[in-house]
Amino acid sequence: MGMIDWVVIKNRSDFKCSDGHDLSTLDWHTNDLGCLLGDVIIDGPVLKYTALYKNEFPDKFTGTVQIGTECRFCPCLIDADGAIVNVAVDYELVIVDNMIQSVRRVSDDTCDWLNDESAMPYLKGGYGPMPLEEAVDKSFAIRFGVHRSMTIGRRHRRR
Ligand SMILES: [Zn+2]
Repeated sequence: MGMIDWVVIKNRSDFKCSDGHDLSTLDWHTNDLGCLLGDVIIDGPVLKYTALYKNEFPDKFTGTVQIGTECRFCPCLIDADGAIVNVAVDYELVIVDNMIQSVRRVSDDTCDWLNDESAMPYLKGGYGPMPLEEAVDKSFAIRFGVHRSMTIGRRHRRR
């Protein structure tokens, strides 16, 4: 398992999936800053980096960084074993001397991503797209062969 750096976003509202969900409160990660299990903080226009081995990271970073997360608000997929697969969202940031010059979503929009991903071999026999709440119940049922009582209650009320 490779290491990554975690990314936290503060004071920005422009990191969204194609469906407009604000993803700035979610955990992001990147493989582009040395993968030292460090913490990258995007605070407004500034990118900061702290890690145990900070001496391996330049004080003034210039370059392109791709960060990624998964939208928990869009529909998701489930593989045949019950593992939930959320829509991947990736952004590319252009940084000059730790200042963010531009951000751009580089991942597919949600509809295309769901269509392409559901055709992947590892999702053969899987399910979805469906809302995450429904997927959690479905995943539980697949993995343990039972329905959570919450699910039964919810379905009962629907009749
Ligand atoms: Zn979304």
